[in-house]
Amino acid sequence: MGLLSGLGKLGLGGLDSMKLYEDPDLEAEAESAAQEEAEPEVPKVREEDFLLKKSCKCPACDRDFKTLAVRAGKAKLIGTDRDLRPQYDGIEPLKYDVTMCPYCGCASLSRNWGSLTDNQRRTIKKEIAQNFRPVEADKDTYTYDEAVNRYQMALANAIVKQAKNSEKAYICLKAGWLLRSKWMSLDHSDPNYNVEVAETMSLEREFLENALEGLVNARATENPPICGMDDMTVDYLIAALSVRFEKYDQAARLVAKLLGSKAINSRMKEKALDLKDEILKARSKPGQPQLNELPVGQAE
Ligand SMILES: [Zn+2]
Repeated sequence: MGLLSGLGKLGLGGLDSMKLYEDPDLEAEAESAAQEEAEPEVPKVREEDFLLKKSCKCPACDRDFKTLAVRAGKAKLIGTDRDLRPQYDGIEPLKYDVTMCPYCGCASLSRNWGSLTDNQRRTIKKEIAQNFRPVEADKDTYTYDEAVNRYQMALANAIVKQAKNSEKAYICLKAGWLLRSKWMSLDHSDPNYNVEVAETMSLEREFLENALEGLVNARATENPPICGMDDMTVDYLIAALSVRFEKYDQAARLVAKLLGSKAINSRMKEKALDLKDEILKARSKPGQPQLNELPVGQAE
């Protein structure tokens, strides 16, 4: 298991021990369980109905190919998790957020797809394309496992082309969210269910821990917007991930900052107050600092 585990089947097993982030003191830089027993009369919404095939040109090998993307406005948002993972009805759009050239393995989040410097093109050709085993180009949907592989390819590309911390962090964040969708969609009746849930959760955790590290670095060294999010959203996200990974001091500082801001909207305030409760609960356990030592509690 590891961030880049699974790339062996794409010919890139040699990349799985690459380091994600430079040291900070160096220079800054399953298939959804198809329910067969649905009544025949009810027309089923198919994943394909949400998707379109988009033409792309690869900036590394110059070949044309088609990639699957979610039609604008088609998927309905029904909520968000505490760490802002969006929940959609009928489809997991995260599966379609990576563009990957099926011929050479050049890949990135679709929002970052585009031109490469000469140097990056050379590096991707040498480190990625040379060993990449071409994959089937014309698919109607991606399975969770195919989608996870695409994120791993995007991450491998981001590492070899020395992308910004924010780009690497965002790949890790979305991959972590995707893995959560994957384990939530696994079939309880499958004999391997427990093993697969445990493995998928563990990989989710690994991606999100790396997302947190990258977001903290990016927040300190890059100009906003980070990953297309405003400062307040990034601060909230860092706080939420910090709570998950029990970095309560970091979380408390950010929650205090959010709650002290005049610009905070009511939705964000509610979310920040939930985090504050969580921090206070964790801190009130025996052996933790007393409540009144906490930097949270400066709301308004
Ligand atoms: Zn290519």
